[in-house]
Order: sequence, then structure tokens, then C-alpha cells
Amino acid sequence: MEHSRLKPLRASVPVPRLTELPPLGMDERAIADDFRRYFSHTLGRDKHCRSTHYPFQALALAVRDRLMERWKNSRYACEEGNCRRAHYLSLEFLMGRSLGNAMLNLGIAGPTARALKDLGLLLEELAGTEHDAGLGNGGLGRLAACFLDSCATLQLPVTGYGIRYEYGMFRQLIDSGEQVEEPDHWLRDGHPWELERPEYTRRVRFGGRSESYQDEHGRWRMRWVDAHAVLAVPYDIPVPGYRNGTVNTLRLWSAAATDEFDLDEFNAGSYPESVAAKNAAENITMVLYPNDASENGKELRLRQQYFLASASLQDVLRYWVRFHGEDFRGFADKNCFQLNDTHPSCAVPELMRLLMDEHGLEWDAAWAITTRTMAYTNHTLLPEALEKWPVRLFRQELPRLLDIIFEINARFLEQVAARWPGDGARIRRMSLIEEGDEPMVRMAYLAIVGSFSVNGVAELHSRLLEQGLFRDFFELWPEKFNNKTNGVTPRRWLAGCNPRLARLVDETIGNDWPTRMERLRELAPHADSASFRERWHTVKQRNKARLARLVERECGVRFDREALFDVQVKRIHEYKRQLLNVLHVIHLYDRIRRGDTAGWTPRCVLIGGKAAPGYFMAKRIIRLVNNVAAVINADPATEGLLRVAFLPNYRVTAMEVICPGTDLSEQISTAGKEASGTGNMKFMMNGAVTIGTLDGANIEIRAEVGDENFFLFGLTAGEVQALRGDYDPQGIIAGDERLRRVMELLVGGTFDGGEPGLFEPVIQSIASPHDPWVVAADFGSYVEAQRRAAEAYRDRERWVRMSILNSACSGRFSTDRTIAEYNADIWRLEPVPPLPAADGESGARPRA
Ligand SMILES: *Cc1c(COP(=O)(O)O)cnc(C)c1O
Repeated sequence: MEHSRLKPLRASVPVPRLTELPPLGMDERAIADDFRRYFSHTLGRDKHCRSTHYPFQALALAVRDRLMERWKNSRYACEEGNCRRAHYLSLEFLMGRSLGNAMLNLGIAGPTARALKDLGLLLEELAGTEHDAGLGNGGLGRLAACFLDSCATLQLPVTGYGIRYEYGMFRQLIDSGEQVEEPDHWLRDGHPWELERPEYTRRVRFGGRSESYQDEHGRWRMRWVDAHAVLAVPYDIPVPGYRNGTVNTLRLWSAAATDEFDLDEFNAGSYPESVAAKNAAENITMVLYPNDASENGKELRLRQQYFLASASLQDVLRYWVRFHGEDFRGFADKNCFQLNDTHPSCAVPELMRLLMDEHGLEWDAAWAITTRTMAYTNHTLLPEALEKWPVRLFRQELPRLLDIIFEINARFLEQVAARWPGDGARIRRMSLIEEGDEPMVRMAYLAIVGSFSVNGVAELHSRLLEQGLFRDFFELWPEKFNNKTNGVTPRRWLAGCNPRLARLVDETIGNDWPTRMERLRELAPHADSASFRERWHTVKQRNKARLARLVERECGVRFDREALFDVQVKRIHEYKRQLLNVLHVIHLYDRIRRGDTAGWTPRCVLIGGKAAPGYFMAKRIIRLVNNVAAVINADPATEGLLRVAFLPNYRVTAMEVICPGTDLSEQISTAGKEASGTGNMKFMMNGAVTIGTLDGANIEIRAEVGDENFFLFGLTAGEVQALRGDYDPQGIIAGDERLRRVMELLVGGTFDGGEPGLFEPVIQSIASPHDPWVVAADFGSYVEAQRRAAEAYRDRERWVRMSILNSACSGRFSTDRTIAEYNADIWRLEPVPPLPAADGESGARPRA
């Protein structure tokens, strides 16, 4: 079955000498030669080519060749060392572009740029044609991508497993101020970084029923029958470490129909039905669900989740059996699965099923392996974002998994009853099955029960999980719970996206900081040097000019780079409070109209982000930002004082221009709602100062950089909690002249653009005593903090110092630190240097 599509190779020796090649040159000359060969001989283009597409393809292939040899050496090293490995299971990998990152990590950006220049081509222009791999919604998917970069850089044998969606995150257009979604057919022009591996195809089944039977030894066992199978075809993407010879793998699964499936229908004389069935199979990986931090009970989404979990586990088991046969005793010592949120948590019952039904293990042995290999990361405190699936849906789609979930639950609840005898309420609370008209499987509880580790993603978040959402489980198993504060990779998010600042840092403290981010602290003393501050400021102004060009091109709004660049980019969600930002903008506009502009700091406000297509309020907030921007930018009174723009289609590639050009980073979520945030870290690394609440990783950012270099405002998580039941926004509005005037402008229709009542839902939500995001409660202290920020910006020397110190103190927020902690506490992997290649680079130990 494994090689069904492919004929076996017959060779005269057991291992044919297929791959013995000299290492490829990394110099200008070798790269130029390969580029020209791909362009002419492989792609068949000539001097008449007038599109960037083919030169980009040729360049990508030349760079990819240099990854290939290192990839093979990394794979061999892991096989030969029989090493312990970790598998990062995630429904999302928000990778962005790959060319620039590959060249950076291979250390060939310089020679490549020179080679192209000699040929009369511009590297930036070619790199600019690459499509983002947008296989994720936001922070969670980007975290997975940053983790892969750090795992490769630390030479840890970690494989990413995900889904190769045909359509990634939708493209956002703005039409008359409204979000319009367009499908993102990112594979249309081909994806040069992927390698199809049909030889590792797996079968994943759906539907049917489970039944018991007696095997040949007379043992009663269970099997899953009458199911229909879908093929899972893997596509591998290379993940290069930073200048260390390691290349790890991201394996993405694509769904395909099985041949026998078609044949059955064909023989029954219903050819069109067979083709339709093929579509149904291939639909599984057709599209990424565009919901961030909220869930819906769509059947197809559950199929995607199971498809990923089953294909990935089968892949790991296949690898195991290839080297160890059917003896699974050492399996848990050599494997670990990290579940990125509950999305892949079908892996818990699926590993049980595979070990018992397919490999003949007994329950206890299979459970011991499962609970020694699974680890779960939680990403949200919003109760509505905790996944639940109807028992009915499981019974219909995954009947055998439902048996196993019921059995896990029965055994688990016995344990709970033994620990707390007679506590029926607790048993109902902790059950994996939520009772009701429509009984539901609680996926987070399934993940906790099946895992040896449960972590949150920032200190506050992990603490709140223990005290709130997962309190019962914490009381039962305190040793499972731990924190792993998120990070971002400094390769993409400083060295790659901010070459000017990177060069200044190189010249100041040396060039090994990309793998030793704690060394950025050595920048701090230079904040006292006027000449260093001047150089830092010059870099920031160049980056602001680059951002201003993007804003002018995309929004038609002119940003003056002398103004304070005040930026909030992230998914649009009520808990992230873009609305609070807009209220402040309206307040500034109100001040301008009143003539209250003495000591004014000119400000350019940029807001960007996608709303889930079904999220009404988020879409209405986008409309509000656009309408407010239109009114303000058109009013001559605001000239030189205030500009506002909504940046369409926020994505990784946009953030690579935005964070280097930002002065003030808006991180203003309702305290206790943002699990961590990672946008906050990208901004900090690039020398933006944060205005923020005591939420998520903001708390740790402030602790690193010091209170004097952070603009803090707002209620604490505890104070927000305490407000419940006696929150009086109307009283707050009436008692605050500034907010009262802002609400009057909103209610009076200043921004309605001729559609009366357009923002009524927004106004209602602010004025409602049930507003869970307590926007009105934080308005006053937010405006005060904004005043302090504006004042600080007017003192350039002070601001530049703050900017330098933010970068200098950002080392903790490298995913190298995060991954080192995952490894020390959860994965316990040894670094594996690749097998030596003749180029003398490989075999190097990581420097961190
Ligand atoms: C970093 C990043 C995010 C996460 O931003 P938060 O501010 O942490 O929500 C989302 N989307 C993209 C494209 C990113 O690069």
C-alpha cells in the first residue's frame, strides 16, 4: 500500500550510490551559475522573459538545492543516532515567505544579491514576488512557525506536522470601508519549497461503525468497519537552522481520494458519483478555517483535525516500526507529541486506537505510552474558544474514537471519585462529556487527561489557568501544569526584517546576537551615547519612511515620518480592544476641533487586522476605523497633527515592514484575556515602546524593560473580575467629559457616512453594563497614558533612549529561550548536529 503509485527500484547493489555529490558552492559565482541553469535549462526561459515569476523560481530552486544536501545530512544524523524526537502537531503554520529566511539562515544573502546584480536583477524585486504561505490565522500559527526556526537553530530533532491547505488565510480587501474576503489560492503559481513524498502516503478513515471480534488467538478486540478511507499525502518543507548546517522538516498533509473508492462507484455504474466522492475526500484539506480564538461546530473542521492527528501519528509509528518492529516498549522514551492547542487533540484517542487496534497492545500498555508522550499547550482564556464537539458528530464520523473517549472518561472519573468520594458536582464538572440536550466532548479536558504536561503561554495566563479554567485538574495533578512564555524568532523578526538595525547592532556588540539574544543587553550602556542615539534614530527614521511608503501605497494616506507612529496590528477581536484605540483617536480629533492643541505631538495612527468572516462586531469595528479615518484625514484642521489609516490584508510580510517602522506599540487588551501576545515582542525587539495593560506577556515585557520605559494603564485582571456585577459604563461616560464628548460624536453621526445607526451596535456595547471588555472603564487611564507617551516622544533624546532599551531588553522573548524551556521541561531532546558534509560547515554545535 505504501508504494502503491510508485514502482519499486531494482538496482544491482542493496544501496545504490544515488546521492554522492560534492557540496554546492555558497559563493556568488556558484549561485549565479545555478540560477542561470535553472532559468534556461529547467524553466526554459530566455532573454525575452519580462516577468519576475521565472527569475524568482530559478532563484528559489538554486537556494533550495543548498537546503537539500543539509536536509539529508540532518535526517541521516537523527536516524543513525536513534535519537529521541519531538513532533509539533498544529492545524496552523503561518510561515510567510521563505526565500529571504532561507538565504539569511544559510548565510548567502550577500553573495546572492551580488550574483543577481551582476545579471542586472534586483534581489528585493524577485523576493517581493513570493506569495506568503498563510496557513494560519494569527498568533498561534505564527508561534508554530517561529518554534520551527528555533528548533532547527538549536539543532533539536523536532518535526512540524500540519495541513497543506489549498486555500490559506483569505486576502482582505477594503471596499467602502468594509472588509471583503477573497480566497487565497497561494499554490496557483507553484510552491518551490515543498517536496511531495507520495511514498509516505497514509490512509485515514471516516464514518462506519466499530465492532468487536475474536482475533486468531481467540482474543476479543475492537475494529472499525464500513468506514471510507481518504489518502493523506505528505509534502515536506525544509526548515533551516541559523548557519549551523541543520535543516528540519515541516510535513504538511494533503487529502486525496483512494483509487479503490472511485472504482467501487465506477463498477456500480455511477461515474459522476465517483468523481463527486473524490471531491469530498479532497475537500478535507481545501481551506483553512478563518476563525481566530473562537470555534464553530463544523463537521469539516473536525475531519481536518482528525486527518492531521491520524496521518501524523501513523507516520511516526511507521518510522518506529521500520527500525524497531512491533516492539513498542521503548516508544515513549523516543517520542513526544506537542499539541498546539486542542485542535490536534484527537491524537490522544487516535494513538490509543492505533496501538490497540492496529498494533495489538492492551489498554494499560497503550495508555502508559499515550500519557508519557502527549503534551498540551493551551492558548486561550476565553471560555467560548474552548473546543467542544457534539458526541453525535463523533459517533457519525469517528465511531471508534468515541468508544475510546468514553473508556478514557470512565477510568478517569473513577480516579476522581476515589480522590473526592461523593463529590458528584465535581465529577460532572470534570467529565470529558458535557451533559445536556446535545452532549459534547470537551476537547481541552481530553487533552489534559491524556497528557503528562499542560502549559500556558505567559506567566499570568498559566496562573489564571490553574486558578480558573482548569482549577479542578490543577488540584488533581498540580505536577502536570507549567508555563512556557511565548517568543518570536529573532532571525525573521530582527535580523531579516530590519537589516539596518541589525547592521548597527552588529557594529556595536558583534554579530552573534541572533543566537544569543541575551547579548542585546550590551546595547543598554550605549543609550547614554549621543552619537549612538543619533545612529539609532536615523535607522528608525529610514524604517518609518519605508512603512510610510507602504501606507501611502495601500491606503492612500500620507504619513509624515517626523510624527509619532502609533500602531495596532493584530486580528480584530473585541477583547483586543481596537475600539478603545478608536475612541482615543476620536478624542484627539475632538481636541483638534476644540483648538486644544497646545504642545501637540503630531501622530499617525495605523490599525490593521482581519476579522473572522462571521464575526459581526469585528467587521463593524473595521468599518468604524475606516470611517473615522476618512473624516479625520479629510478635515483640514488635522493637517500636520493627526493621520489615521486602516491597513488592508495584514499578514507576516506586512508585519516585516510594520514593526521596524513603529514608535508606539498598542497592546491594550482587557486584562486577563490575551493569553500572551507575540506581536508585542516583535515591536519591542525592533525598538518600539509599548502602551499596554497588565495582560499576557506585556507583564513580562514591562518587567524586563522597566516601568519607566513602558506606558502602563488600565485595570488589572483581578480588578476586571471584581467589576463584574457592578460595572456602570453610563456613570463613567457621564463623569468623564472627554468620553462624554467622544460618545456624542459617535451618537451624533459624525462618522456614519450617511448611514444613520451604522455604529449603534458599537455604541451599545460600550454603554452596556455587560460589556465583558470594559472599554469605558479603561478609557480614562488609556488617554492619560497616551498623553504621557506623546510627551515622551516630544523629547527625542528621551524617546530614542527608551527605544534602545526596549530592543536591549528583548532577549528573553526569543523563541530560542522558549524552546530551550520546552526542551528542558517537556521534550528532553539532545541536540543532533547533522552528519558532516565536505563543506566544513556541518557538524557545528549550536552556539546558544
Ligand atoms: C505576530 C503576528 C500575529 C500575532 O499578533 P498579536 O498582536 O500577538 O495578536 C498575528 N498575525 C501576524 C501576521 C503576525 O505576524
